[in-house]
Amino acid sequence: MDAGLKRELEAKVYAGERLSREDGIALYESDDLAWLGRLAHHRRTELNGDRVMFNVNRHLNLTNVCSASCAYCSFQRKPGEKDAYTMRIDEAVRKAKEMEDEQLTELHIVNGLHPTLPWRYYPKVLRELKAALPNVKLKCFTATEVQWFEKISGLSADEILDELMDAGLESLTGGGAEIFDWEVRQHIVDHDCHWEDWSRIHALAHRKGMKTPATMLYGHIEEPRHRVDHVLRLRELQDETGGFAVFIPLRYQHDFVDSADGKIRNRIQARTTMASPAESLKTFAVSRLLFDNVPHVKCFWVMHGLSVAQLSLNFGADDLDGSVVEYKITHDADSYGTPNTMHREDLLNLIWEAGFRPVERDTRYNVVREYDAAPSLAERRAEPQRVWA
Ligand code: SF4
Repeated sequence: MDAGLKRELEAKVYAGERLSREDGIALYESDDLAWLGRLAHHRRTELNGDRVMFNVNRHLNLTNVCSASCAYCSFQRKPGEKDAYTMRIDEAVRKAKEMEDEQLTELHIVNGLHPTLPWRYYPKVLRELKAALPNVKLKCFTATEVQWFEKISGLSADEILDELMDAGLESLTGGGAEIFDWEVRQHIVDHDCHWEDWSRIHALAHRKGMKTPATMLYGHIEEPRHRVDHVLRLRELQDETGGFAVFIPLRYQHDFVDSADGKIRNRIQARTTMASPAESLKTFAVSRLLFDNVPHVKCFWVMHGLSVAQLSLNFGADDLDGSVVEYKITHDADSYGTPNTMHREDLLNLIWEAGFRPVERDTRYNVVREYDAAPSLAERRAEPQRVWA
């Protein structure tokens, strides 16, 4: 990128001007990662100071049986496959109760598009979960699942959301977004919930008072211009509804065979590599700069590893999800020893060590508890360092 354009973009960011599609593409073309980080960190600090939010949540997948076979997905199973499963309602409640330690505040539930489970199952399971864990917020279902419920129930999304909210639904999840541009989407998504339905369902949820997340699956067969397009669609919708609480760039993962039959289900991994840490940090930075009207950018540390998660906090992210136990969709994706369990203490230390002030939040981003600011790096280095044998 030439120096003139760099100065122009920098001036826009510091003046708080909205960046254009061309600006977004130009930012992705820059190899100056430190510069991108500085700009994104400026914006992130304007919005969120030195705070890093986190919540204590657990993930629950009621079924991995799915009618679709999205090309990047290694989670789905077909009925009758060895490790296909569907939880009975009492089983889901028992599993959730087992997770109810450490003052759990949120259950995150996403599932396959089960071909024969009746619609009634879903509100029923929410009601029973809410009765068993009244203080835990239920963040459940992607827009893709809600569109699936429309098909299997004959009800409208409006009626479906009303019933789910009545049963205890606090928020939708942000999944099913992947990359909205059809040029890419047609090759990776195998259901018919695309931008039109995804945005319709989130806008409806926003009108009903929900705050929802939005995601983007990057680092597969898309190009930077598709990421820019994805974010700009969301930004435009956010101008209308103001209902997105957070944007979550999700790093595409290869299939690290752990299925009962040893079968690799991911059909695009032969054609692509996973995004490098530098590419991930650039994606966080450009997303923070372009998506100027979303309050938070989240790093889902399970997909990045803990070091990149810490660094992402200097590249626009201000929210870490979560304290996940048993995350089934991906695990140790980078083979760097990323754990699949983090407890409150682990998250606090992760945030302090990165130089930020931890703030525990709930599903709607209300503050649950503020913690002390991090000691300065100089102070931390002044402490005797532990020597590992
Ligand atoms: S991504 Fe979701 S909808 Fe697509 S195959 Fe996997 S579980 Fe099914």
